[in-house]
Amino acid sequence: MGRVTDSPDPAFDLAGWRHVYSGKVRDLYLPDDARDTASAPHLLVVASDRVSAFDHVLSPGIPDKGVLLTTLSLWWFDQLAGADGGRGIPNHLAADHVLVGDEAVSLIPDAVTGRAMIVRSLDMQPIECVVRGYLTGSGWAEYQADGTVCGIRLPAGLGNGDRLPAPIFTPAFKAPMGEHDENISFDQTVEIVGAERAEELRDLSLEIYERAARAAEAHGLILADTKFEFGLDDEGVMTLADEVLTSDSSRYWDAAAWAVGTTPTERMASFDKQIVRDWLAAEWDKTGEPPALPTEIVERTSARYRELLERLTGA
Ligand code: ATP
Ligand code: MG
Repeated sequence: MGRVTDSPDPAFDLAGWRHVYSGKVRDLYLPDDARDTASAPHLLVVASDRVSAFDHVLSPGIPDKGVLLTTLSLWWFDQLAGADGGRGIPNHLAADHVLVGDEAVSLIPDAVTGRAMIVRSLDMQPIECVVRGYLTGSGWAEYQADGTVCGIRLPAGLGNGDRLPAPIFTPAFKAPMGEHDENISFDQTVEIVGAERAEELRDLSLEIYERAARAAEAHGLILADTKFEFGLDDEGVMTLADEVLTSDSSRYWDAAAWAVGTTPTERMASFDKQIVRDWLAAEWDKTGEPPALPTEIVERTSARYRELLERLTGA
């Protein structure tokens, strides 16, 4: 695994933990005495305030983004573990404290409180498990070119932002660091992980999406699409990992605006980083380094992330 060296928010220096990896947004640490990721009993995943779009880390970060996204992930993990009344979906969260006598002592260093999770180290599947209930983004681009999304043929006449007849599983191959994830067909997924695992990933992804979309709907939100990552635990159980149903990994729209909107912009009033993508697409030709985000865009994005959390969790 490589690391991002020019990130605007470098990894924290945390006593007792060794920094081993930085993705575009998150930093991974191992306990000081662990040999490597595979053998470590648990990992510390820290969400930074970095924001990425079109495969670039942008500057400046979004204030409190790491805390907001971690709070949202933890809330969804809890819902999916059964708080929503559904069956428990196994996830990678590990105990974040130890008992010393009667006292619970947090394993999470103070410097990253609220933005970190202690997780079991899993054997990650190299598939980004995308589910789409609505047509937009790279799905819309492929559909316009040849009427399909990840090889799945869709009815003719759909528009940008339209609801699909039923949610679809549209996997992507998780590219090695620095490369762009590539949309693949279900058959290619079978070639990579085998038929049984591919079916398991698809069925779990669709189940979680449907549960989450229903919950979002109850709060006036559309979960247009989302991406999950899974890994195998020591017993070979397919386990939900990474971040889940955050505004970085999902598109959330305002249901009321979608219902009455007449243009794609009106219909897709988003609570995710579409604000950043749209600004960047208008201001940058995608060559060289992206321009710095203006304060107004940073503040609007931050406010929308906060509003999403409040709407969903009531917090
Ligand atoms: P990108 O910069 O494109 O987002 P990334 O997805 O690798 O790259 P992050 O999302 O910032 O980077 O970092 C999180 C990393 O941690 C991912 O590589 C993810 O697969 C990995 N990960 C998440 N949960 C676990 C887990 N339980 N065990 C092992 N690795 C995990
Ligand atoms: Mg990621």
